[in-house]
Amino acid sequence: MRKKIVAGNWKLNKNLEEGLSLASEIINIAKDELHNQAILVINPPFIHLSSLQKLIPQNTNIRLGSQNCYHQKSGAFTGEISAEMLKSVGVQYTIVGHSERREYFNETAEQLAQKVKLLLEVGITPIFCCGESLSIRESGSHLAFVAQQITDSLFDLSVEDIQKIVIAYEPIWAIGTGKTASSAQAQEMHAYLRNHLAQKYSQEIAQNISILYGGSCNPQNAKELFACADIDGGLIGGASLKSRDFITIAQSF
Ligand code: PEP
Repeated sequence: MRKKIVAGNWKLNKNLEEGLSLASEIINIAKDELHNQAILVINPPFIHLSSLQKLIPQNTNIRLGSQNCYHQKSGAFTGEISAEMLKSVGVQYTIVGHSERREYFNETAEQLAQKVKLLLEVGITPIFCCGESLSIRESGSHLAFVAQQITDSLFDLSVEDIQKIVIAYEPIWAIGTGKTASSAQAQEMHAYLRNHLAQKYSQEIAQNISILYGGSCNPQNAKELFACADIDGGLIGGASLKSRDFITIAQSF
């Protein structure tokens, strides 16, 4: 049975006080109102992780995540944060290869493969992002393009390790634009990627990998998206900054 996951990507938002207040609201509303099996992942800025970790009660379905990590283990890389450091403050999930990082920070497929490997070594689940630009979609090569992103960064993983990955399909044209992929567009891509995983590994393995959708997912459209056979939850940007919206999305399974 695949895990149902809703992960909130706070990006460059919220100072510590605001972040703690948002996380407390999410934790409290989830405790009272979220009764399904969904796992909620909160991905705040790095500097909030340690404080926020102390807020999350044991025995909940709420997990701590980070938005990135560095692709080297340790050393003279001023300003960077390693997978092992994240592990030491209680991080359980890390977003890898968000399109904003690929675009603004020139992250390459090789670097993303290294990040995934380092995260797995310390027992953190990578949420591997992939997705096409509008021009690639309009050219009709979007399915092959996104499958290639997965090949390039994940297909060196062993049979054991690929099963520890979460994938997030995020069409770039839908991120932060208010323009969601239709459920048919998202389902088509998710099914294609699952088949791609099945070809490389096996049908059984592919069926066990959670594939999330991201891109202007909100309380109004989450139900239709999550009802699709191959959509196992969402990676949520803007709507994760409002506790009520975030929980409503998590209630949409
Ligand atoms: C994201 O950045 O991962 C994202 C999905 O953002 P938004 O929900 O705001 O489109």
